[in-house]
Amino acid sequence: MGSLKIENIRKSFGQVDVLKGIDLEVKDGEFVIFVGPSGCGKSTLLRVIAGLEDATSGEILIDGKKVNNTPPAKRGIAMVFQTYALYPHLSVRDNMGLGLKQAGKPAEEIKERTRVASAMLSLDDYLERRPAELSGGQRQRVAIGRAIVREPQLFLFDEPLSNLDAALRVNTRLEIARLHRQLKATMIYVTHDQVEAMTLADKIVVMNKGRIEQVGSPMELYNAPQTLFVAGFIGSPQ
Ligand code: ADP
Ligand code: MG
Repeated sequence: MGSLKIENIRKSFGQVDVLKGIDLEVKDGEFVIFVGPSGCGKSTLLRVIAGLEDATSGEILIDGKKVNNTPPAKRGIAMVFQTYALYPHLSVRDNMGLGLKQAGKPAEEIKERTRVASAMLSLDDYLERRPAELSGGQRQRVAIGRAIVREPQLFLFDEPLSNLDAALRVNTRLEIARLHRQLKATMIYVTHDQVEAMTLADKIVVMNKGRIEQVGSPMELYNAPQTLFVAGFIGSPQ
């Protein structure tokens, strides 16, 4: 289970209102993409959902339960960042297992979950290497593996492919689509890449200046953009 409901979420940093009343429902198992110009609040919204930032007001519900006061590690969420955020001094195996170790999981279980995740991501042969000995694409797969081993109900991806070259972006995008089908988890994914948005999403959320402009399937947004901004962003000829 991994449904999400966001009710009138606002977030201000000092005098600056970054999120200005966000309402959104994400169904269990859905793949939802957030798009919008740089600075419109996409990363802030993900961080609020993950619990890395507190909302100024509003409610966040996961599977119908309010989680505003639930610490990040207890929300059943794993987040994958653009910068991978791996520990350079740890092996791939230890990077992937660290969160489970900190949660007090037994060594055998960590080993088994790491085995399953590394097989899914074709990282079996790289488990004893350090991040510096991997390509950019492999590093990003380790970051995804570290999320998978925690068996979250909800994955949050913040522009996970933007540091990869074009060919690797396509491969990794297909891999994420496959993982979504395989794990049946809910995924929320930020990108500024229209192709990623149109191909991965069940539902696209177009954000602008701290608000949601429109929510719909890729075809709905393409065929019936409700504002010029959405039309321009999705690239409809209208
Ligand atoms: P996006 O991910 O859509 O590019 P962000 O959510 O990163 O946008 O940022 C939205 C706005 O919030 C920006 O103007 C940014 O400068 C501001 N912001 C984000 N985090 C902080 C912070 N910790 N303190 C102050 N301002 C912030
Ligand atoms: Mg961002």
